[in-house]
Amino acid sequence: MDETDGVAVVKPRIFEWHKTVWDSLIHRQDRLPHAILFHGPTGSGKKEFAEAFAMHLLCEAPSSNGEACGVCNGCNWFLQGHHPDFRKILPPAEMATDEDADVSKRSGLWISIEAIRELESFVQLTSHRSGRKVVFLPMADRLNVAAANALLKTLEEPPNNVVFVLVCEQLSRLLPTIRSRCQKVALPPPDREDALAWLSVEKTLDASVLDLAGGMPLQAIKYRQMPEYDHLNGVLDWLVNPLMQGKDPVRMAAEWSKINLSILHDWLSKWLYDLIMGCSGNIPRYFSSRHQDIFDLTAKLSLSGLITLSSSVAEDKRILNHPLNTKLVLENWLLGYYALIAKSQRSVS
Ligand SMILES: [Zn+2]
Repeated sequence: MDETDGVAVVKPRIFEWHKTVWDSLIHRQDRLPHAILFHGPTGSGKKEFAEAFAMHLLCEAPSSNGEACGVCNGCNWFLQGHHPDFRKILPPAEMATDEDADVSKRSGLWISIEAIRELESFVQLTSHRSGRKVVFLPMADRLNVAAANALLKTLEEPPNNVVFVLVCEQLSRLLPTIRSRCQKVALPPPDREDALAWLSVEKTLDASVLDLAGGMPLQAIKYRQMPEYDHLNGVLDWLVNPLMQGKDPVRMAAEWSKINLSILHDWLSKWLYDLIMGCSGNIPRYFSSRHQDIFDLTAKLSLSGLITLSSSVAEDKRILNHPLNTKLVLENWLLGYYALIAKSQRSVS
């Protein structure tokens, strides 16, 4: 969905592949828990689902299938981002605007205890519309420990008519005590056929980008819109044949050092994953369009060498958010990969 400064402007959608979950949830209205935790993989549409559910809770005239009407006062306030009975809690970095001068605000990745404490008066007061109040945490796995403990206190003594709607990618990132106080609802990703059908309606039909996104259609759209995506084929061409004249790793690292390092890390990690799969006789997961190239490479590659390189690249994930010399890190990855391929070529000649 579109957002402007964290304010919803378009009615959140419920995707086809989540309709069954939606229907079963709506039919249990009378047994609605005071805290509900939606979980599912990145880019599968779970935040949109949770937002649609929160809007439904505040809608004054939901339709027969439970969807918010989009026109009542409750819906209008919700869409404009100022429903008096709704609170959305995000990490500071997600709420900061580009103009925000406060650096700590722009870089705050974690929800602080202060943000949760501010909820206390909201949940204790009676609702403005004499209905429900909704607390929405679309990134619940970003609660820091103190904030999670503070939230736990509220969840232990739930005030009447308050529904907490939490969303997270991995349940393991939430305190077990928070998980146990929420009703957990898994939101599955679509199967490949449904995802492709949806992408074609969205005019982004491109099976290779869906594969790169691990089958997650919303992530696929995000990938396709990234300017970096235009470099993908060049990077893959090099990975298929890094021994090309005039394309040595140091030169390529210099050329690609302007591309976001996290994105290059993502591509390289997935490429190495596919090579490992290929070595074990499995079909590639992320780069199916390069199936033949992967097959040709893995015929000669050493599986143990691949695993070592892949682990070392995976380890570097933790340094990606730190200020560092992008070119040096990239050089290190490319040199490691070059050495692996060069060795495999020597062993066959
Ligand atoms: Zn409504």
